[in-house]
Amino acid sequence: MECIFCNIRDRKAEAEIVFEDENILAFLDIQPVNYGHTLVITKKHYDNFLTVPKDELDKLIHAVQFIAGAVKRSMNADGFNVISNNGNPAGQSVYHFHFHIIPRFNNDFTIKPRIKTYGSDTMHDYGDQIRSFISKYKDIYNG
Ligand code: AMP
Ligand code: ZN
Repeated sequence: MECIFCNIRDRKAEAEIVFEDENILAFLDIQPVNYGHTLVITKKHYDNFLTVPKDELDKLIHAVQFIAGAVKRSMNADGFNVISNNGNPAGQSVYHFHFHIIPRFNNDFTIKPRIKTYGSDTMHDYGDQIRSFISKYKDIYNG
């Protein structure tokens, strides 16, 4: 399937590239939330966060940290968000995994989801559900 970020990597589509090395590419988002909003991708195509192999993820997160510092300082930002959207309900629209780096300025905007409340016993139940998956699959984590 056609992938816009693979096309940018292959120079078949234009982008304002700000960083490139053997494994990583970073370019400006064409619909910036703030100016300097940058996307960081692995050159290899992976659909989402869960399918990126560990060695690739290590390189990616290292690049994200470096580029986030550059974006913050060069934009004179007061802070920044590092975000990844995974799956349609989370707002993913390009299925080539990427991190967003969004420079943030004091009082620029607020994103306020409606907060849920745990009942006294339900918090433990949710914890149990997650812990049971973690104990079942911890061999994957430990390699
Ligand atoms: P997401 O919704 O997290 O999948 O983010 C995809 C992002 O890619 C959106 O913020 C888009 O504005 C951005 N985007 C889509 N096409 C391009 C493109 N050709 N060049 C730069 N950014 C793009
Ligand atoms: Zn791709």
